[in-house]
Order: sequence, then structure tokens, then C-alpha cells
Amino acid sequence: MEQISLDDVTPSDYDVITAGGGAGGLLTALALSHHGKKVLVVEKEDRLGGVWHGYWIDGFRVDKGLHVITRVKRGAFARFLQTYLSPPPEFVLHDGWLFRVHDRVGTIPSSFGETLRWPLTGFKGRLGLARIGAKIKTMKLEEMRTYKDVTFLEFMRSHNATNQVMLDVMQSAIYMAAGVSIEKASAYEALRTLKDTDKESSKIGSVKRLLFGSSEYDEGYVIGGMSGLVQRVTDAINGDYVLNADVQSIHEEDGAVTGITVNGQRLEHNNIVSNIPLWAMPKIVNSSVAEVNSFFERWSTMKPTRGITLWLGLDRVVIGDRKNRVLVHPTPNRWIVSISSFDPSCAPEGKELVAIAMITIPGKSTEEQVEIMKSNGLTKYYPGLLDHVEMEHVQVSYATRAALIPGQTDLDRPGPRTPVKGFYIVGTDTAGSGVGLQQAAQSADGVVHAILEDTQST
Ligand SMILES: Cc1cc2nc3c(=O)[nH]c(=O)nc-3n(C[C@H](O)[C@H](O)[C@H](O)COP(=O)(O)OP(=O)(O)OC[C@H]3O[C@@H](n4cnc5c(N)ncnc54)[C@H](O)[C@@H]3O)c2cc1C
Repeated sequence: MEQISLDDVTPSDYDVITAGGGAGGLLTALALSHHGKKVLVVEKEDRLGGVWHGYWIDGFRVDKGLHVITRVKRGAFARFLQTYLSPPPEFVLHDGWLFRVHDRVGTIPSSFGETLRWPLTGFKGRLGLARIGAKIKTMKLEEMRTYKDVTFLEFMRSHNATNQVMLDVMQSAIYMAAGVSIEKASAYEALRTLKDTDKESSKIGSVKRLLFGSSEYDEGYVIGGMSGLVQRVTDAINGDYVLNADVQSIHEEDGAVTGITVNGQRLEHNNIVSNIPLWAMPKIVNSSVAEVNSFFERWSTMKPTRGITLWLGLDRVVIGDRKNRVLVHPTPNRWIVSISSFDPSCAPEGKELVAIAMITIPGKSTEEQVEIMKSNGLTKYYPGLLDHVEMEHVQVSYATRAALIPGQTDLDRPGPRTPVKGFYIVGTDTAGSGVGLQQAAQSADGVVHAILEDTQST
């Protein structure tokens, strides 16, 4: 895909126009290219990728947020990369989880035997964990769906699973997937995360895994970071892109999309995909049809997740391994990952790049949150981390556009189509489950299928 200026755009050269070039928009364009379509991506910012990107700070290559990708072998995102990029990007898997509860460290028990030896709770807590673990591991998707409007904490309480340490460890895992606490997360989405439903097979398979365990992780970091990944995707798209191009209106006439207004200039087209957040759409969609306006009003209230990431460039290697560390207690939950241990190219030789991530604390300033991240056990449990800092960089951003709470699960999303013919929506608030890039890929998958189906039938 080549960058062109708005003045050089001839809309009829393209099969589809994508308003917004975040993960959803780019993955849609990538898959459409594979199906022989030519795409124009119109992006408001001065770069592509939305919150999916990375950049250099004082010799260290940071991503926007701690992007350790969940499901790099299976799932929608992996499928996109494996199908449409040749050769597929290289991922380095992480070496397992380490949950810290004060002076104790444990991983996620992967078998009944391991659960009974779990170091983070006493025997009663382990028995409780074994009981609820067995329930979750053998639960089918249909049953999980019945818990979509129940919070995970309510689900756990209704199953007498109330051991506080167990809840706190689960909280830290669910925080990362749903972006909210277990008091708010939809039990259905939390259960899917814990069960890893992509892997769902027969009940016998689940029971076998429960008894004999599985230490297989499907999470990792991509060589080249997020900026490298976005570049690979951009290069593989058939079409052009325009930057600094604010889509101000999307026009509808007689029930069909007719074009967009970008920086005051009208581009006529009858196949438009919008990757613009749904919360902004009521002001952008230009229609006099009540059904169209109420559709966009209805879906504009999605609540996003927000994360804060503290990047530390260290003058020497302090952590030096590929463990995914979570500081559960003392609270607040923090994830600590040595990114340069996955991909040394993101730090100067002999130095280390570490990311510390946390869900934002409402009502606290960025400075206060950084102070909180750096205290509460960080120096006690990770000595040396703060003594060797030569680069410090903080990011605060929405991570996904719809937290997985009751009313916002993948069963409560609008999907790819709108009431306007030829007008589709994509992004982490339109469809999909799980962590950000999986959601974006699932939503892109839906849009691509819808476009191919609709264009074939006309
Ligand atoms: C801190 C953090 C940590 C994360 N960690 C992970 C992780 O570990 N694993 C994982 O899988 N995912 C992770 N993600 C999430 C993932 O990157 C995002 O969820 C995903 O990239 C969002 O995709 P989206 O399609 O919803 O697009 P967005 O990024 O919201 O893209 C929307 C695009 O539309 C553009 N736009 C908006 N309005 C207009 C307009 N009027 N005209 C033109 N263009 C417009 C925007 O500029 C943007 O480029 C993380 C994200 C962050 C920030």
C-alpha cells in the first residue's frame, strides 16, 4: 500500500474505502486484498495503526502498551498473519506465568495434582480451586453463554468459590483479558478466557487436560514489535492510504451509503467500512432515517478499557528472562515483562527494555499512578529494577473499545453490517471476544465475509 495525498484520490479506482486505519481497518484491507480487492484507507492521524503501533525513545523501541499477544498459533489474529503474510511474522513464546502474592510465587496450575500443591493458598483454598477449576474446564460454551449477564464475582460466589487469594489471582488474569475487575467482567467472557475456548474440544479432552495437565502456552511477543507488524500488514495491502485525513461525515441516501467527507472534500463510493470508534459515529453518520440514527445511538455507549504502561530502559540486564510476571499482592495488579528478552533488537546491546502495565485507576493523575506502580512491593520483589533506569516513558490509552462487561460481550455487539446498504463497521467495539487484536481480527473477518457475500449477490 502506498501513501498518496487526498487531492490524488480517484474513488472509482478502489473497490472499498476504509475510514480509519487501526487494527480493524488494516486487517480488513489485508484480507480484502487477498480476495482481489483494491482498498483506500483514510486515516485521521499522521500514521497508520491506531492504538496498535510502536516507536523509538532514546534508543529503545517501545510499543503502544504492553502487547504480549495471546494466541499466536491459533485464533483469528494468528490466522490472518499466517494466511496473508508470507513468511508469517516470527513470535517468541513466553516461558510461563509467575503470580506473586506477597512472598509466595506460583504459576497457573495446569493439572489437578498441581492445584493440590498450589503454593499461593492453604489446603482449603486449593480444594476450592480444584473444584471450581474442574467445573470451568469441563463447561461447554452453551452453558457459559447463560452467564453473560452475570459478573464473574457473582458466578464464583454462586459456586461457593470465595477464597480471596484465588479470586485475586483470577482477577489479575481476567483484568488483562476483559480490562475490568472481576466485579464488573461478564462471567461468560471471563470463563471463555480461563477455559481458552478456542481450544475447546470434547469433554473427554477437557477431562484429560484437567487430570494430566498442559503446560503449553500460546502467548508471545513478535520479533520487530508492533511497528514492524503494522508495517508488514501495510506492505501487503493492495491499495493506497491517506494520512491526516479526518472523516467528518459518512453519507446515506435512500438506504445506501453514497460516500464520505474528508477534510471538507467529498469522496463518492458505495462500499465503505468504518473503523472509527462507535462512540463517535452519531456525529459522523449523515442520515435522515430514524432507524439509521437510532442504530448508531444505540451502539455509541460502549465503555472502553484503559491501560497505563511504564516503559523502563535499563542500563544493564536486571530481569533477563521471558516470564510473564504478575504482582497480585501488594495491589494494584501489575504485569512486568522484559520485552528485550523476547526481541533483543528493541534495546541497545547489554541493556534491557522492561514494560510494567496496569489498568488505570480512576480519579488518579498519571503521575500518581506511576508512583503507585513504582511502589507497593516493586522494589522489594524486583530489586534493581528502578536502580538502573536510563529511559522512562509513560503511556495512557484505551486498549480496546469495549470492555467485556455484561451488555458488551461478543453476544451483545452490532456485528459487521449497519442498516445502510454498503456500509460496514469494524473494530474492537463491533464484534469479537478476547484480547484486543483477536477482537479486531474477528471483527475484520466478519466484515470481509459480509462484503464478499453482499458484492457477490448484487
Ligand atoms: C496499552 C495497550 C495494551 C494492549 N495490549 C494488547 C495485548 O497484549 N494483546 C492484544 O491482542 N492487544 C492488545 N492491545 C489492544 C489492541 O492493540 C487494540 O485493541 C486494537 O489495536 C484496537 O483496534 P481497533 O480496530 O479497535 O482500532 P483503533 O486503534 O481504535 O483504530 C481506529 C482508527 O480509526 C482512526 N480514526 C478515528 N476517527 C477517525 C476519523 N474521524 N477519520 C479517520 N480516521 C479516524 C484512528 O485514528 C485509528 O487509527 C493493547 C492496546 C493498548 C493501548
